[in-house]
Amino acid sequence: MRRGAADRGAGRRAVAIGRGLRRAGASLALAVCLVRPARAQDDAPRRLDVGRFTAVYFPDDDRLARTLLEGAARNDSFPWLPRPQQRVLIAIAPDARRFRQWAGPEAPEWGVALAFPASRRVILQGHAAGSEAGDPQETLRHELAHLALHERLGDRPPRWFDEGYASVAAHEWRRDDVLAANVALALRGVPSLDQLDQSFEQGTTAAQSAYALSYRAVTELASLDPERGLTLLFRYWENARNLDAAVRQAFGTTLSGFEKEFQHRTQRRYGALAVFADLSLMFLVTSVFILPFIVSRRARDRRRLREMLEADAIAERAERDAILAALLGIPAPVHDAGEAPGLPPSAPLSGDGHEPRPDASTDRSARRDDES
Ligand SMILES: [Zn+2]
Repeated sequence: MRRGAADRGAGRRAVAIGRGLRRAGASLALAVCLVRPARAQDDAPRRLDVGRFTAVYFPDDDRLARTLLEGAARNDSFPWLPRPQQRVLIAIAPDARRFRQWAGPEAPEWGVALAFPASRRVILQGHAAGSEAGDPQETLRHELAHLALHERLGDRPPRWFDEGYASVAAHEWRRDDVLAANVALALRGVPSLDQLDQSFEQGTTAAQSAYALSYRAVTELASLDPERGLTLLFRYWENARNLDAAVRQAFGTTLSGFEKEFQHRTQRRYGALAVFADLSLMFLVTSVFILPFIVSRRARDRRRLREMLEADAIAERAERDAILAALLGIPAPVHDAGEAPGLPPSAPLSGDGHEPRPDASTDRSARRDDES
């Protein structure tokens, strides 16, 4: 349905190519043609062959090309598949502009590599790629896994299976992290496999989640047969009517039965995690908002304590003055400014006790405050 006679893009964290592929193929063919005239120029494209792999690249990516090809040739088998035989052309784009040019206009903005299974080509970004392009070795293995799967099963695998298998083959374990933090998953539930296929086309966030869920789905499907994984499924799928028939034959269950189990398990495992991640975040945010109130409350408590101590000191002093006055036979000074309007400014203290006085009792209360 989604694949014609033309190449299909099976890019990594991207890929919804389709119609633009003929054009992309033409651009790439042009890029490859440029290699042929063996010019002695330093900046001319180069070619390297290792095993069944050929890389075309520009001189700045010489080291990268060697590392990638040697790695690919050394680790040239893919889980549950026979060793691939087809030759593969790997084009390493020297910069983002040429990557986009070779990838074609239909490639999503966030695609960092593309596979063209029908013509057995891979386009990668060279050393100039940003960190979002990921580990180039892992990226290449992901794309080569698409090609290996296609070599065995042609266009049979649906998108979710194709991407899930490539992620499993490239050991992209970190895909699970996306699910653990995916609050939408917790709220809306795990999509069906058909919905999963569509979410590859719905922007970066949806696609990231679709990759992660596909990775989980393929992992779970393989776990149905702990010994042989997907070996039997691949064998039956070659001649089966569809994936459902192959799943029945290989695992004795229906595709829709597997799908329900996958949705249920993923929801239980990652839905809870996402809610937990969400709660932690909520707690953090709440704390940030509450902290100023806690601090100001504490400051207020300290102020009240200081005032109480000051009031104590005033009362103590008034009592001493009264005793002294009684002993000397003179009227005791009035300590309430409100009741003694004619009192001179040197009067011991105003009644409310808020104003500090430059006397010993104030000093003492200040000291006590420091100790508290
Ligand atoms: Zn892919």
